[in-house]
Amino acid sequence: MANIAFLGLGNMGLPMAVNLHRAGHGVIGFDLSPSSRAQAAAAGISLAPDAPTAADGAECLITMLPAGAHVRAVYGSGVLTALAPGALAIDCSTIAVADARAAHELAHAAGLVALDAPVSGGVGGATAGSLTFMCGGTDIAFQRAQPMLAAMGKRIVLCGEAGAGQAAKICNNMILGISMIAVAEAFVLAEKLGLSHQALFDVAANASGQCWSLTSYCPVPGPVPASPANNEYKPGFATALMLKDLRLADEAAETCGANTELGHHAATLFARFAEAGGAGLDFSGIITGIRKGS
Ligand code: NAD
Repeated sequence: MANIAFLGLGNMGLPMAVNLHRAGHGVIGFDLSPSSRAQAAAAGISLAPDAPTAADGAECLITMLPAGAHVRAVYGSGVLTALAPGALAIDCSTIAVADARAAHELAHAAGLVALDAPVSGGVGGATAGSLTFMCGGTDIAFQRAQPMLAAMGKRIVLCGEAGAGQAAKICNNMILGISMIAVAEAFVLAEKLGLSHQALFDVAANASGQCWSLTSYCPVPGPVPASPANNEYKPGFATALMLKDLRLADEAAETCGANTELGHHAATLFARFAEAGGAGLDFSGIITGIRKGS
């Protein structure tokens, strides 16, 4: 069992820290937000007064922060040098591939071992300890991270070297964003043509249009009872987070010269839906924007 400094005890970080604590790891947490600290204390997480104190002598640092700027700020502060010599730094936030690579370099410069390990599975997966971790780093870092990641997730995949976890995450979510728009447009077209939702579902779910956005997360109520469409598009996976990931994919594509026209267009459509009031709704709610033509 490891002594872990856990920074970022928000929607995702707190249940992840709780699962580490339950698995018997020593967890000292810190969050900049007083309300997150209060919730963490109520959940039984020991707190430090600041990030370097949380990191003091810890064998493992786990960060679950909003964006790349926050990760760079933490990795560029006194946190890394406060850790035990040779400690393992795992960043589970979703950030740009370039930011992840920069974080690896800062960790290596401090004599640490680093892993980028963004997640899928959302707050439900974080609470249930069933997250998927997409990892980038060395074999050694990956092996050392197993006891911690296994306490928080079920599927733990080494995708390649530094930044490969973030690359896998944004590529997957670009497929998801595009495929959700495709499925939503098909249902809107079906409505105009007088074809019932169930009829389209029954055909497409067993034909070449089959995909996860249709069969597991159907954007109209009825065919898949557990999908957010049956619950007024309460997330789930909020549109604001889908937009964040599509923008990261778009930036990465521009940086490396990949042609991702549909990914770019999906980001534009989700931005429009978010601006029209959909930011806090599940991303499958984009069908309501498509229906209105907004
Ligand atoms: P959140 O905003 O609820 O939590 C982030 C926390 O980090 C906040 O409590 C904030 O106060 C804290 N923080 C910011 N800077 C800090 C610092 N320097 N030191 C300590 N704490 C600091 O966000 P979240 O929903 O928990 O998401 C966290 C990350 O996980 C994001 O990168 C997000 O894209 C990713 N993610 C979220 C989901 C989801 O469903 N919420 C799913 C997959 C991935």
